[in-house]
Amino acid sequence: MSELLQEKINVKDSLQKQLLDATIMMVDDEPLNMEVVKTFLEEIGYHKFVLVEKSTQALKILEETNPDILLLDLIMPDVSGFDILTAVRELQKYEFLPIIILTSSTDAESKLRALDLGATDFLSKPVDESELGLRVRNTLAAKAYQDQLAYYDPLTKLPNRELFLQRVEWSLKAGTRFKENFAILSIGVNNLSTINASSGPSSGDMVLMKISHRIKRMIRNVDVLTKETYGNTEINLFRTEGSGFSLILNRIDNSENAALVTSRILEVMEKPFQIENTETFISTSIGVAMYPEDGSDAASLLHAAASARDYAKNKSSSMIQFASDAINRAYKQRLSLESRLRNALEREEFVLHYQPKVDITSNFMCGAEVLLRWRTEENKLISPDIFIPIAEETGFIIPIGKWIITEACRMLNVWNEKRSEPFSLNINISVKQLSSEDFLSDILRIISQSHIDPSLLTVEITESLLIENIETKITILQKLKDMGLKISIDDFGTGYSSFNYLRRLPVDELKIDGSFISDLTENDNSHAIISSILYLSRSLGLNTVAEGVETEEQLKLLQMEQCNQYQGYLFSKPLPESELSGLLKK
Ligand code: C2E
Ligand code: CA
Ligand code: CA
Repeated sequence: MSELLQEKINVKDSLQKQLLDATIMMVDDEPLNMEVVKTFLEEIGYHKFVLVEKSTQALKILEETNPDILLLDLIMPDVSGFDILTAVRELQKYEFLPIIILTSSTDAESKLRALDLGATDFLSKPVDESELGLRVRNTLAAKAYQDQLAYYDPLTKLPNRELFLQRVEWSLKAGTRFKENFAILSIGVNNLSTINASSGPSSGDMVLMKISHRIKRMIRNVDVLTKETYGNTEINLFRTEGSGFSLILNRIDNSENAALVTSRILEVMEKPFQIENTETFISTSIGVAMYPEDGSDAASLLHAAASARDYAKNKSSSMIQFASDAINRAYKQRLSLESRLRNALEREEFVLHYQPKVDITSNFMCGAEVLLRWRTEENKLISPDIFIPIAEETGFIIPIGKWIITEACRMLNVWNEKRSEPFSLNINISVKQLSSEDFLSDILRIISQSHIDPSLLTVEITESLLIENIETKITILQKLKDMGLKISIDDFGTGYSSFNYLRRLPVDELKIDGSFISDLTENDNSHAIISSILYLSRSLGLNTVAEGVETEEQLKLLQMEQCNQYQGYLFSKPLPESELSGLLKK
């Protein structure tokens, strides 16, 4: 099927769905009437309703809920349907809101008056089920067509500048109410006029269509692949200018995410476009403005993004420009980090530190957690919190992870050589590694080459990242367990903590997240959470480790609660290999 045909089908399907997604508001002083109409409409598939019994409230609720269609009764006490109709039509933004009047069929005079005041259609009371369905659908479809003309670009079928401005207003509302940050990206195609002039305007049109397809695909991929890194960011693309597009990135927790999406866009734009059998390269510049840093209203944010874009266009070195200097610096830093990370393994810049894992009753060190460190050329130690997300995003985590497992196995042999009590190691595995194709075979090979007892190796996986695709993950974890390794759930308590899924996971150990330990002595809530985690853990026969234990007081409470093991600065920070060797000899 051609790309274009598929696109048309998609548009049609989404239109049907869009109609059923309409918010239907009803104003009637008889609640029973509204219930009947609602039930009829629900049977067809509509599911968003706003029912208003007090006609005095109608206008206020209308503005709050922004419905797609209004079903209005005429005869009501206090404020009549005529009054509401008049007031709604006076508001410019509701000039085209479809309004269906419910009235008795015989009352020709009322009908005429309502029509004169701007009613869209009529429905006779009592309402006939099939007539209702048809009238609502037709009215909504007409509205959708009108919207399509008013709010969508006919070439790319993307929402246009009008809708973009509306959405920015929404983002601003959500931003202020829920303290959410968002970013606006202004994307310019610099050489569109050259393409139009040299190959004709239809080539220019093709370029714009292909650009919109590529960016849409990129957005889908980002959505699917990198939830962990991007969080719940919602990305929307608009055609806002003849030679440009805009994006809104809602709910971004830091500017770094905006930088990531921006560089992905630049990446997809760099590849040549096939236009009528010739490779066409386009030059792109992107300006980024962040709320609230770069502006607190739509106009200043749009201006900031557009001027950043123009600045980028005139500068040959970088095609991306953030409105604020701080974010520009952060972005450049990330780019340079990414390129240095690429070679870090070869240059042997990674080191492993080991944090002792201690038995809570005997205070005896029974193992350690392996924690990765990156020592850069300038002899600076960079925290894994900074570079692990980049390593995951770029896929570098796969070779780095293999190296960590190999090193951990080597040290297990060294440290267990002269010991009667077995010493075990925990390694952190990211979900990206876990789901990589060769993970199981790699781990099997490394273990058999090093001849270690696999039960000395525990694999830690963060709880919050386990939930997605849980069935596949259960299978992989079960295979690891079949090989003899142990499984630990890291940062337990911070994720969804559904105790139901825990029963189904092949686990040996839970690690209580340090955030509960740090306010254990002050916060009754944390205490309660820890008690219930320990109860659960015991009932499933699992080992429980408390992380981030820093004080004697915390340790005492954990002893009382019968936790099994702990880690934390109280016993020791993560140590370089030599220091852990020293500690083991004692
Ligand atoms: P995590 O697995 O939860 O590791 C525990 C973190 O808490 C470590 O930070 C550790 O240094 C720190 N910590 C230990 N005791 C205390 C304490 O008493 N108080 C406080 N405030 N902190 C304590 P680190 O080493 O910076 O690691 C951060 C995260 O990076 C780790 O969290 C883990 O998610 C990730 N990471 C570290 N090494 C690796 C690795 O080899 N592979 C992968 N995939 N991720 C790793
Ligand atoms: Ca860990
Ligand atoms: Ca942890």
